[in-house]
Amino acid sequence: MTSTVSIDTARLPLLLNDLRLPTIARLWPDFAARADKEGWPAARLLTTLAELEMAERAQRRIQRHLQEARLPPGKTLEAFDFAAVPTVSKAHVLALAAGDSWLEKGSNLLAFGPPGSGKSHLAAALGYALVDNGYRVLFTRTIDLVQRLQVARQDLGLASAIEKLDKYDLLILDDFSYVHKNQAETSVLFELIAARYERRSLFITANAAFGAWDQVFPDKAMTVAAIDRLVHHAVIFEMNVESYRRRTAIARTRPNGDTIVPTDAVAPATIIQDA
Ligand code: ADP
Ligand code: MG
Repeated sequence: MTSTVSIDTARLPLLLNDLRLPTIARLWPDFAARADKEGWPAARLLTTLAELEMAERAQRRIQRHLQEARLPPGKTLEAFDFAAVPTVSKAHVLALAAGDSWLEKGSNLLAFGPPGSGKSHLAAALGYALVDNGYRVLFTRTIDLVQRLQVARQDLGLASAIEKLDKYDLLILDDFSYVHKNQAETSVLFELIAARYERRSLFITANAAFGAWDQVFPDKAMTVAAIDRLVHHAVIFEMNVESYRRRTAIARTRPNGDTIVPTDAVAPATIIQDA
């Protein structure tokens, strides 16, 4: 005895929609027609459609991660002029952009330099590259995040707010030293640093080096403890060059197109331990 299952092919678009397979839903009519015409084995048709769904799914995920990352538009690695910052090695940054071990270890990156030296651009550029490579990133002004965490603390939800940030492999805290302890409860920043220590990475940009971080945290002990955790596994970029904006503005006014020479270039990126 043979059992027959009645198959209503007209339902296929609905079924694919319910199964959340938008790529197959879009492509199957053309591929099925081609398979019929060229006599493909059924397994080939199925595999082709499944692979296309997977590929587009990966693309859609990257698009979503790009949107959630809130990276400043246009600040990519391609747009970053490494010649302008001799202390930052392009090869080193490209290696970091691949992600892998430093993110798995929760190592940190820190960029110090005066305004306009390219800290935010460099951080965003790494962010774009990491998202492209399948990682999740959030770019935020430190002040904005501190405010968010302060609100969470008032609602007794600080721990879960910090835990929610765990989904980001890299959290970029831009303009760290703009945070000032008189803005109340900057200890939330310490809680965040302590929670991510050796688990999840931070990229901190700051105009002021560690010496001035007493302004950020409520007391000296907390400042020391925060710096200690941050630098335990870290790469530090000293971007001690004159403002890129100013230099390009000056270069534009020079008709002979003199090359721009950074002012006081300092030592190359410091690698603290095995970042
Ligand atoms: P910072 O965060 O250190 O204050 P930004 O990253 O905001 O500086 O840089 C200021 C402006 O100059 C931005 O428009 C940025 O894109 C540009 N810029 C800075 N450094 C570079 C660089 N090395 N290559 C290309 N553009 C740069
Ligand atoms: Mg900046």
